Amino acid sequence: MADARSSDTVHALLKRIDHDRYRVRPGQRLDLARIDPEDNGDFSGRRDDAEALFAALNDRLEALQELLFAEGKHRILVVLQAMDCGGKDGVIRRVFDGVNPAGVDVASFKVPTEVELAHDYLWRVHPHVPANGKMVIFNRSHYEDVLVVRVLELVPEARWRKRYDHIRAFEQLLVDEGTTVLKFYLHISKDEQAKRLQERLDDPEKRWKFRLGDLAARKAWDAYMAAYEEALTRTSTDDAPWYVIPANDKWYRDLVCVAILVDALERLEMRFPPVEAGTEGVVIDA
Ligand code: AMP
Ligand code: MG
Repeated sequence: MADARSSDTVHALLKRIDHDRYRVRPGQRLDLARIDPEDNGDFSGRRDDAEALFAALNDRLEALQELLFAEGKHRILVVLQAMDCGGKDGVIRRVFDGVNPAGVDVASFKVPTEVELAHDYLWRVHPHVPANGKMVIFNRSHYEDVLVVRVLELVPEARWRKRYDHIRAFEQLLVDEGTTVLKFYLHISKDEQAKRLQERLDDPEKRWKFRLGDLAARKAWDAYMAAYEEALTRTSTDDAPWYVIPANDKWYRDLVCVAILVDALERLEMRFPPVEAGTEGVVIDA
């Protein structure tokens, strides 16, 4: 695999993955049951190829993140949503492997605390959005407030229904102020979830991640799919797009995620900042 240090090479590599086919068009109706979680794009039977390509793009992501930090002009927000065992933790570990932890934060949104519940639902989210030069990954997000909250009827429908508009406006605010917003829904099948939940239960090193509530969420699978369909349809915009990432095969999931990220970062046409005046010709005394 060619090394991906120059933009030209990167563009050639990116051409091999048609990640745009996974983008949700604004207002596009979704039927998740008809989107194949096993999809391998053009890489079916070519996992080795996909992994080599992933490695090159992952290297490039590292370099771009360094540039993002050095330039200090742009902000990147990546929203990760999925059913339990959908692979959010895996994407964070694998796709962002090698980036400089000084420039990347992960914000995980759990069941809200009493103080958080005493405020509007975006109150706990806004402080975590990225600053200049930073990349932030949301492991779950404000979307829980139209997903689990809707399915478990934690607030009346009249209240959560208004949230799609708030969320669109909130994300538009971030974009207008200089943040790139990318949203990934990791799409696994119900069968794949059963397999992964069982593995989680059977593995002493993974069992701690299991919650009995995961079974209740699994029982409500169809209600969650309906909630995701509406959320993605109503909040995917040209400026803050959702992607439905086929996620049954982890290697393909990771490849699509890294391709979307690298493509978005390349489009920013970042440059290292100019060196301080007077630096030219400086030689360090031995
Ligand atoms: P995990 O990400 O697996 O550690 O689990 C976090 C849990 O917090 C999940 O069951 C989420 O559904 C739940 N959660 C996150 N945000 C909210 C919210 N706004 N309201 C209710 N539950 C939430
Ligand atoms: Mg969990």
